[in-house]
Amino acid sequence: MKILLANPRGFCAGVDMAIDTVQELVDLIGTPLYVYHEIVHNRHVVERFVRQGVTFVEDVNEVPPGNTVVFSAHGVSPQVRADAEARDLRMIDATCPLVTKVHVEARRYARMGKQILLVGHADHQEIKGTFGEAPERMTIVESPEDVEELDFSPNTPMVYLTQTTLSIDDANVIIDAIKRKYPHCMAPPKEDICYATTNRQHAVRDLAPRADLTIVIGSRNSSNSVRLTEISEHSGTPARLVDDATELDYGWFEGVETVLVTAGASAPEDLVNGVIRALRIRYDADLEEPVTVDEGMNFALPVQLRILKNEASSA
Ligand code: SF4
Repeated sequence: MKILLANPRGFCAGVDMAIDTVQELVDLIGTPLYVYHEIVHNRHVVERFVRQGVTFVEDVNEVPPGNTVVFSAHGVSPQVRADAEARDLRMIDATCPLVTKVHVEARRYARMGKQILLVGHADHQEIKGTFGEAPERMTIVESPEDVEELDFSPNTPMVYLTQTTLSIDDANVIIDAIKRKYPHCMAPPKEDICYATTNRQHAVRDLAPRADLTIVIGSRNSSNSVRLTEISEHSGTPARLVDDATELDYGWFEGVETVLVTAGASAPEDLVNGVIRALRIRYDADLEEPVTVDEGMNFALPVQLRILKNEASSA
């Protein structure tokens, strides 16, 4: 068997920054430490922090007043910030800067009086946060059918924005439907689907045709991981999503000569290594790692954390 190991895969700069933020806080101030929503959508990452005493909440009103709360990489709505402020919580914002960029666009276009069509999954944490920036001016569209049902007048000033982790192909189908119905609808100044999503999808699109099966390492609630399985399947190569090597079903590999392995942006590399190790031991597989693009991207830690670290080092 041959293993094609996609590169880039796994952690992006936003996930790296968010995980480093929680780990540095655990090391700096210890627990209790609260994180609003899963810091990134990966079961293993969350469980590792829970074992260190970190508490994950889905409502900041669960955090006792005066404590520290970290906002996850997916971003939060202004209402969540207001609730945290009302409880006198110390807020550390680990929102990915590329998600913050979409929030800034949403606020700007809302101030300009435009109707915003937000392309994304309504139940995803990122979309809930972005929507909260201007609920009175925003409509979430999840499909071309949703676009058909819109009843804005043809002259309504409009712009569309998108979730950062969508499938580029699926987003384009929806955007095409928007442009057909509202040709004057503006596009965001720069693509909202982020570099990490784009690069991981391109790698799968390039490599899946060479494989008989694709294994994506990631959690089921990770939007970008699920999209990678869909892209492989659209290329004609069946795909399976696993959290780690223990979820591999060796029945999937019957007749498979080449397997593509990749990982969503929130999946740690040690889990990828575990899958590779399991396949190499069982099938004596050769490994090839074609590099599609060299990313070299980093994001700074949240400013609130940098201030805390400075205070601690000068104390
Ligand atoms: S997937 Fe993209 S938007 Fe999401 S955290 Fe990573 S870099 Fe940021």
